[in-house]
Amino acid sequence: MAVSLDLTNDETRKTLSDKVNAVKAPERPNLIGMSREELGEALITAGVPEKQVRMRISQIWHWLYVRGAKTFEEMLNLSKALRADLAANFTVERPKIIEDLLSKDGTRKWLMQFPSRGAGNPVEIETVYIPEEGRGTLCISSQVGCTLTCTFCHTGTQRMVRNLTSEEVLMQLMVARDFLGDFPDKDTPQGAIVPEEGRKVTNIVMMGMGEPLYNFENVKKALLIASDGDGLAVSKRRITLSTSGVVPEIYRTGEEIGVMLAISLHATNDTLRDEIVPINKKYPLAELLKACREYPLASNARRITFEYVMLKGVNDSLEDAKEMVRLLKGIPAKINLIPFNPWPGSSYECSDWEQIEKFADFINQCGYASPIRTPRGDDILAACGQLKSESERLRKKEREALEQ
Ligand code: SAH
Ligand code: SF4
Repeated sequence: MAVSLDLTNDETRKTLSDKVNAVKAPERPNLIGMSREELGEALITAGVPEKQVRMRISQIWHWLYVRGAKTFEEMLNLSKALRADLAANFTVERPKIIEDLLSKDGTRKWLMQFPSRGAGNPVEIETVYIPEEGRGTLCISSQVGCTLTCTFCHTGTQRMVRNLTSEEVLMQLMVARDFLGDFPDKDTPQGAIVPEEGRKVTNIVMMGMGEPLYNFENVKKALLIASDGDGLAVSKRRITLSTSGVVPEIYRTGEEIGVMLAISLHATNDTLRDEIVPINKKYPLAELLKACREYPLASNARRITFEYVMLKGVNDSLEDAKEMVRLLKGIPAKINLIPFNPWPGSSYECSDWEQIEKFADFINQCGYASPIRTPRGDDILAACGQLKSESERLRKKEREALEQ
């Protein structure tokens, strides 16, 4: 039944804001996303005797991250009383899935809703799964919106809402594993795990919405859980964190997280990079490339990826290609050329295919692998930030229709 809302009326407004407040975070914290230490502290507050805590942590860790348990009821090697205590104090619930879209090319995209934290409204996050020959990559978001304003990026035009919590970052992987069947089913004997080669999600890229290094602590916590060998066990060599160039946190990423690095380069001189990747004004190319040279995990077997969005007439000349090769000298690098994905209102065009190939050939001749990223999931708007704004737009339309 259609309801007509009079938003000029204070009473209606109050009722609405009461409703919005009513959907705030559940009182019970979610155990997913807590480090082992935090989990231990949580168990103590729930009354678990101190001498049992270590054992309980490893049991629960196994249920959450190896078995993919969605309720405490499933955790059969915990006593009934403990399960009831845990359920009274905590949750292991998944977020609400608002959309689950499957592209013709197999790309899949989920839009999930998390309850508010404190006073804000619930937030929506998108996660994209890209299956390829022999592997499947999950593209995870780190923030809702982004404080940076790269001129070619749709997320950069959106209002920054907030950092995601470690629970929310990690939950994107949990949801993908749920939907893709990467957790063993209930009949699999206890202790059995889905071996790495049988999994659908083999790789993770932090390339969704937001700048992961502006949410360092939560991203670190989530990635350390994702790569924990007794749990989700995604190898750190198969996790890539993409940054627009937050130099101090690049050093910390190498030391404290230990995953692979991708840099959104996009320009080969400071004048252009200042304009299209504005964080360059704070951390110019020389500082950025120094951090890459010193990245502790980089080697010829573990190259740093340099992402380069191809913008027609802006950064796609052979001079740019030449300059890129000069800049990256001495860094174990691979270059990922990304055809610009246009969005309504953007002022750029994607370079001509011929030009992208010329650019790629030049870089190849200089000894760099330079794959051109094939656009995926076009029919489900799988580009950075697009599904979320599209669904917001649709809902705005629905709301307007309601209000008429
Ligand atoms: N904030 C991080 C990670 C998220 S963006 C970063 O900037 O690296 C992931 C990648 O998508 C980045 O390389 C980004 O520059 C690129 N990107 C953003 N908008 C794009 C668009 N419209 N077309 C093609 N690539 C885009
Ligand atoms: Fe933010 Fe990355 Fe988009 Fe730049 S490219 S606005 S850093 S999400």
